[in-house]
Order: sequence, then C-alpha cells, then structure tokens
Amino acid sequence: MGERVFVLHTGGTIGMVETPQGHAPVAGALGPYLDWIVANSGGELAPISFLELDPPIDSANATPDDWCTIARTLFERREDHDGFVVLHGTDTMAYTSSALSFLLPGFGRPVVVTGSQIPVARIRSDGRQNFVGAVQVAARSDVDEVTLLFGEVLLRGNRATKMDASGLDAFDSPRFPPLADIGIEIVVRRELVRPPEESPRLTAGRLGHVAAMRLFPGFSASILANLCRPPLQGLVIEAYGAGNGPANDRDFLAAIETAAGQGVVVVVVTQCVRGSVQPRAYATGSAMLNAGAVPGYDMTPEAALTKLAVLLGQDLDPATVAQMMQRDVAGELTR
Ligand code: ASP
Repeated sequence: MGERVFVLHTGGTIGMVETPQGHAPVAGALGPYLDWIVANSGGELAPISFLELDPPIDSANATPDDWCTIARTLFERREDHDGFVVLHGTDTMAYTSSALSFLLPGFGRPVVVTGSQIPVARIRSDGRQNFVGAVQVAARSDVDEVTLLFGEVLLRGNRATKMDASGLDAFDSPRFPPLADIGIEIVVRRELVRPPEESPRLTAGRLGHVAAMRLFPGFSASILANLCRPPLQGLVIEAYGAGNGPANDRDFLAAIETAAGQGVVVVVVTQCVRGSVQPRAYATGSAMLNAGAVPGYDMTPEAALTKLAVLLGQDLDPATVAQMMQRDVAGELTR
C-alpha cells in the first residue's frame, strides 16, 4: 500500500513543549511519534507521508501567506494521495480551514484540519485521538471537503469556529450541522457533504487586503474611515443581531459610503454565534446596506474574511466580489 494520507504539520499545541515563556512549537519531534502511532495501529490507519512546515508555528502567528503555502503544498500532492490532514494550532484553525475551502475549489479529496488543546507528549493529550480520527476521515472517500475535526465532531471547515479556550470539544459550527460524529463509529451525514462542483484549482497566489471590525456602542466612525484607506480592498463589519449598526451616526454611514464608492467591498455579518443577517429586517440594518454594504447572511466572520481575501486576490471587479459574497461558493452560506 502506498502512502495514502498526506499529513502536513504546521504547528500548534499538538506538537508543542513547555518553555519558561509558555508552550511553544518545537521542530522535528512530532513526525516520529505520529509514524509510531500509524505503525502500531494494527493496520487500522492508512500509511501516511509526513511533512512539517519549517519552522512549525503557533497559529497566532499564522498569516495569509501561510494559508497559501498550505494550499499549495496540498495541491502539489493531490494526485499522489487519497486524503490530507493538516495539523494546526487551534487559535486560528477556523480561519485556515475556511481559507483552504476557498483556495482549493474542486479539490475532490478529504482535507481534515485538526490539532489539540494538550500537547501530544502529555499523557492526557487529546492530540492522539484527533490525529487518529483525522487520518481515518482522510482515508475515506465520502467526505471530499475541507473539514475541521476536533473532539467528537467533524465540521465543515468554513462553518467552524473556536468556541472554547480550554475545553477539549473546542469547536462547533452553530449554523450548520456536523458532517460527522466521531464516536465509537465515525458516522458521516452523507446528505450534508458537498460534492466538488468543478475541476481542481488552486486560487492561491496573492490575497486581497482585508480587515474585520466588530461594532460596539460608542464606536468611533473615524476608526472605520482610517481602516478603509488604501490598500484596503475589503472590510467585514461584525454587526449587531440581524445585521444592524448605529444608523443615527451620519459619520459612520458616510465612512461606509466613501469606502464603497472607492471600491472597498464592505460585508455585514452578525457578531451573534447563531442566526443570520436578515437584510432590511431593521432600519438600522437597511442604513448600512443603503450606504453600500452587502449582507453576508450566516457566514462566520472567519469565513467572510477569508472568502473576501481570496476573491479580492483574483482579477474580479468589486461589484462581482460583492455579488459573490452574497452567494454560496463553498458551502459557507445559506440564504
Ligand atoms: N496558541 C496555540 C496555537 O494556536 C493554541 C493551540 O494550538 O491550541 O497554535
């Protein structure tokens, strides 16, 4: 049997050690241990090939360049492997899993992003289980999507969000059901899995300049105006409730209008964990749309930001990007 599952270690707690400054990644330690797990799995795990990013990072240090590096690394190995596991820190895991879903359209292979809350070298680590589950999902032929596996669930990558800074079931996708339960058996909900709709492409090259901003009472419009200066191309506003904002603040609306007029794509999502932007449910929401923003419906802030960055990195005009931000591209949005 060839090496069917490709495992890319990017860093994160799973491969960290304790240092005087706290946990930090260490190069070279994880690969031999994972090889040992596979070799001692009694044939229950597919053979893996392992590669580590040089150097492995804490995912708090991840950048869009890292998303592109990961996407490129997987794309180059697509033909030689049945499935892919990306080991990653939990802090920005949902950004990376979202980004990969947009960077690898039509990939047609399982890409399972996972990590752990406790380093794998520690006796009570959740890393071993998450790794084993991820390799098993990656070797299947019925989950050809970018997913995030953590604890007892397999989530769509661009629907996932980190919910818990310390719990071992740290991720959820509150607006979309899990694609599989990871229990005694791995039970896949096949009716939810999204089949690839196009031939495989790599959209990684350059990504657009984007930012996200969470509204709060007392928010100063000048922050928004400053943020929207060049080179910014896209902005995600994490608005209140059904997509509402301070519509009595003329400067706030003017800042959106100016930005949109200059070609900045402004997308409104909700800062609530559940539910969706409901365009024009409230006058305070309509005001932002009238000023030129577009509704991002039920996209997570992570999905909205990474989708915007990927779309703006392609040769698309702002109006097309604004349209696509309101449409389902990779299972990230329900209208
Ligand atoms: N700071 C770590 C990281 O994101 C946290 C983790 O992996 O759980 O890389």
